Amino acid sequence: MAPAQNPISSQHVAVIGAGAAGLVTARELRREGHTVVVFEREKQVGGLWIYSPKAESDPLSLDPTRSIVHSSVYESLRTNLPRECMGFTDFPFVPRFDDESRDSRRYPSHMEVLAYLQDFAREFNIEEMVRFETEVVRVEPVKGKWKVRSKTSGDISNDEIFDAVVVCNGHYTEPNIAHIPGIKLWPGKQIHSHNYRVPDPFENEVVVVIGNFASGADISRDIAKVAKEVHIAARASERDTYEKRPVPRNNLWVHSEIDSASEDGSIVFKNGKVIHADSIVYCTGYKYYFPFLDTNGYMSIDENRVEHLYKHVFPPALAPSLSFVGLPAMGIQFVMFEIQSKWVASVLSGRFTLPSQDKMMEDITTTYATLDALGIPKRYTHKLGKIQCEYLNWIAKKCDCPLVEHWRNQEIVRGYQRLVSHPETYRDEWDDDDLKEEAYKDFATKKLISFDPSYFLESSI
Ligand code: FAD
Repeated sequence: MAPAQNPISSQHVAVIGAGAAGLVTARELRREGHTVVVFEREKQVGGLWIYSPKAESDPLSLDPTRSIVHSSVYESLRTNLPRECMGFTDFPFVPRFDDESRDSRRYPSHMEVLAYLQDFAREFNIEEMVRFETEVVRVEPVKGKWKVRSKTSGDISNDEIFDAVVVCNGHYTEPNIAHIPGIKLWPGKQIHSHNYRVPDPFENEVVVVIGNFASGADISRDIAKVAKEVHIAARASERDTYEKRPVPRNNLWVHSEIDSASEDGSIVFKNGKVIHADSIVYCTGYKYYFPFLDTNGYMSIDENRVEHLYKHVFPPALAPSLSFVGLPAMGIQFVMFEIQSKWVASVLSGRFTLPSQDKMMEDITTTYATLDALGIPKRYTHKLGKIQCEYLNWIAKKCDCPLVEHWRNQEIVRGYQRLVSHPETYRDEWDDDDLKEEAYKDFATKKLISFDPSYFLESSI
């Protein structure tokens, strides 16, 4: 895409959310010369990483009148990626050995990620753009601009007009609940991982955890420390799977999917095993949700696919004034937010242009047809997995920003392999010190750290 001929213009832009995506989006928009207002309903920056011991009143989050708790972080959570590949490209997420309260591990706790995002916001003076405790309740197009209605904690609502809106509201708050035949009559307790915080309520119980990816693997092991038995139902497992795992207390089994649940408290797995369980924990993912968005029916969500988005960012008929940063599910989250937001900022300023509306729709139609032909269900449209780096580099080239570093991509690939093969130990034992060294040397070459790489490599754990 060639740079546009138009003069660079400054737009008045609303950003919804001050999590990692909203923070970097605000920075990139301001760097490009736009004026920015970030709306954030919480009292502080950090989004998902603001741990709250409080969960929602309805453990499955089905009650529409419940008050929402945004974060899905549990107390024991540590990152599922090495810190060096998680951070933004020009503000590396390196250990802070100068501050004893910080967690210097390579896979640190959730508190360290929050502290990093607070550091980032401070370093780039982002908070001055944020209106805290201000929830966006409606966004609608009006005469080529966008009307944003917000509500403060004092219930005062306010309408404002913006040239553009960037949606960064996160997508790990609205639970997806797997359907189990017979569950309506099953008498036990049910909870979604969104509302899981600590294992204590499961002491001496027989617990079924549905899902065995990052959260499911962590939560089942967390609960197994206090429960009598934990049984994981894993969709990816073969039908006859029945495996005992020795850690943490030799009381954890992996099965195939659940077949049914019954009134007598039993759960039947597809491998034929039957257990009597006290609780079910659903680690079955989340749904995209934009309750404030009114696009006169143009945008919709079908089977968790946000229809229709050009490269998961721009809805063609409303582009570029409406965009979404952070939708795809992939390993390289923060850098994805950074690259997508550079693209949005540079298209809004007119430095680069998008293809015509028809061409963007054509691209979307082709993408959907390819997914169909490969037998990939709609609900996986935004799961980019193996093509994440290719996707990010495609956008990076469109807006003339640096491509994803070799070490970062490889750390994600090898970190993922370790997570799958050694879910119990992958955070403390690794085999990619070569990549870690490459990362720190890269930070030093780019003058992003003020110490020699050996300072980090020799002291880090
Ligand atoms: P969020 O952090 O959720 O921020 C969205 C913000 O928008 C929130 O502050 C919210 O209050 C605000 N908001 C929402 N609606 C409104 C509204 N209407 N008005 C005003 N404000 C609003 N990624 C990694 O890179 N490494 C990890 O180790 C990792 N672990 C994870 C573990 C779990 C359990 C989960 C669920 C996710 C994990 N992720 C991880 C992915 C993580 O979600 C992203 O890294 C990232 O933090 C998401 O940032 P975000 O800004 O898109 O969303």
